[in-house]
Amino acid sequence: MDCIFCKIASGTIPAKLLFESDAVIAFADIHPQAPTHALVVPRRHIVSMDQAVETDRALFGQLWWTVAELARTLGLAGGYRTVINTGPDGGQTVEHLHVHLLGGRPMHWPPG
Ligand code: AMP
Ligand code: ZN
Repeated sequence: MDCIFCKIASGTIPAKLLFESDAVIAFADIHPQAPTHALVVPRRHIVSMDQAVETDRALFGQLWWTVAELARTLGLAGGYRTVINTGPDGGQTVEHLHVHLLGGRPMHWPPG
């Protein structure tokens, strides 16, 4: 499958890994939008939130727990922003579900 995040998960292409478990990996975004910009990604290829099915519920728990733990590990004590872009209107460009974890500067609202 020609999916860049599947290739990172399998080690076929390099990334700055921040965390890995049997179900979830996290790595640095290649075009960071904040001093800290990590992507937290299920190893399994799920296209987007819109493609999630009920059997993904436990995996979603692992995904969000990883986000919370990683934010603490990265020292984001001042707070942070988590984002999941879904589909064209959501601004999704990589069709493998991922959570953006952004921190290290104040975030603004509403997003663009
Ligand atoms: P999205 O627009 O929500 O689909 O986000 C995709 C993100 O993946 C963007 O922030 C990209 O900078 C990031 N990205 C794309 N290719 C890579 C890569 N090879 N390694 C790390 N991050 C990547
Ligand atoms: Zn994939």
